[in-house]
Amino acid sequence: MDITTSINPANGKEIGQYKRISVQEATTFINQAHECFLNWKQTTFQERAFLLNQLAEVLETDLEKYAQMATQEMGKTIGQARKEIEKCALVCRYYADNGAHLLQNENVATEAKKSYVTFQPMGVVLAIMPWNFPFYQVIRFAAPALMAGNVAVLKHASNVQGCAFLIQEAFEKAGFPKATFTNLNVDSSAIETLIEQDKIVAVTLTGSEKAGRSVASVAGKNLKKAVLELGGSDAYVILGDADLEKATDLAVFGRLQNNGQTCIAAKRFVVVEPIYNDFIAMLTQKMAAAKMGNPLEETTFYGPLARIDLRDELHDQVEKSVKEGARLLLGGVIPQQDGAYYPATILADVNPGMVAFDQELFGPVAAICKAENEKHAIELANKSEFGLGSGVFTSDVAKGEQLALQLEAGSSFVNKLVVSDPRLPFGGIKNSGFGRELSGYGIKEFVNIKTIWVE
Ligand code: NDP
Repeated sequence: MDITTSINPANGKEIGQYKRISVQEATTFINQAHECFLNWKQTTFQERAFLLNQLAEVLETDLEKYAQMATQEMGKTIGQARKEIEKCALVCRYYADNGAHLLQNENVATEAKKSYVTFQPMGVVLAIMPWNFPFYQVIRFAAPALMAGNVAVLKHASNVQGCAFLIQEAFEKAGFPKATFTNLNVDSSAIETLIEQDKIVAVTLTGSEKAGRSVASVAGKNLKKAVLELGGSDAYVILGDADLEKATDLAVFGRLQNNGQTCIAAKRFVVVEPIYNDFIAMLTQKMAAAKMGNPLEETTFYGPLARIDLRDELHDQVEKSVKEGARLLLGGVIPQQDGAYYPATILADVNPGMVAFDQELFGPVAAICKAENEKHAIELANKSEFGLGSGVFTSDVAKGEQLALQLEAGSSFVNKLVVSDPRLPFGGIKNSGFGRELSGYGIKEFVNIKTIWVE
């Protein structure tokens, strides 16, 4: 039987097996989803909001069950897993409260008797999601998509199918009609055939650049709308007048939260020359003190990576960077223990052309780059194929804001780590993808923005 197996990355033990479905079976589910859409699109915003609020309740009531599954399947610390579920409930409530307002008709004054823009649902949207926030990535897409009147089918990452089925169960428990949300445990090789089906109207993917390119090309060939949220190599510019204590505290959290596997995590620290050595000394001391360990233990600061192959790939990137001239100041050695652990690692003197500068490092590895001055710092920050998030640390907030405007990214934060907030759009430019999630922009990605003219 074709199955997917969930392996606990903290100890390498098998924790679950899930039956893969064939393309034919997936097609049956997609057809059911389409049938469901024909009714779902007729429901009122109030009815959809009621169910989203119910979903928030279910998520909070069963929070511990969901958090435990996330931690066991992909290794995030249990505290962060609980916060992830809480954030899912927040997003559900945000769209329950604001969806109707965000999608209300927009009157436009023209020569017509009446002319306006209306936002109509599109149909069955396919979501291809990653393992790093196994609940949040899915809810962040599904809550607005369903509030807008669409229905969703999910192809979740193979290593988090336990979470995928729990999400489907949560929708069912909340009272959503059958097939409003369906988990399809298909192999990623089936995705092309699924996107080609006429009942799939659009696709959204969060994941690697490679998967994004593949899905976007199939979607393009079939003239289907696509939203892509891909990787990043977010730069944080640390200016000479920055509060170094705060900047390094946030740098440690930014680089180690979710075991370093966050798309918007701080990845490159671009530090101006006068404070370069002080920043490094402070960061090294704090990163060395962070406790790596069993993610189920409450005192653990960061756990293992999600899979052994991802850990090995990260280590390879570190070794290549050192060969290219980066200075290894901390970590960089695979520990002799079970599980996909990788220690907090610091690479200094990282420059363009090195793997640690040019590629996404998806794990607890901080790359530090020296900038001659502020102008050079912005140049280095922007010298990336990615453009997801970015930040500036300075005590001159007016200057920070000016520099934030110059950073090439979907989000730029001053004196704060980039976070995703349901009230604000989230997404990237360049190889970090296109389209936006969250806020009014996110809910309008999967609607027909339709003009009505009455003469
Ligand atoms: P992938 O991009 O391969 O996986 C993300 C999702 O896409 C999964 O559901 C996966 O399914 C699916 N997928 C993979 N290939 C294809 C394809 N050709 N067509 C359609 N769907 C596909 O990420 P990995 O897990 O392999 O991680 C590799 C790297 O990607 C990481 O090291 C990191 O750099 C980046 N990444 C970035 C994320 C982000 O949030 N920006 C999240 C996850 C990864 P399946 O699991 O079955 O392969």
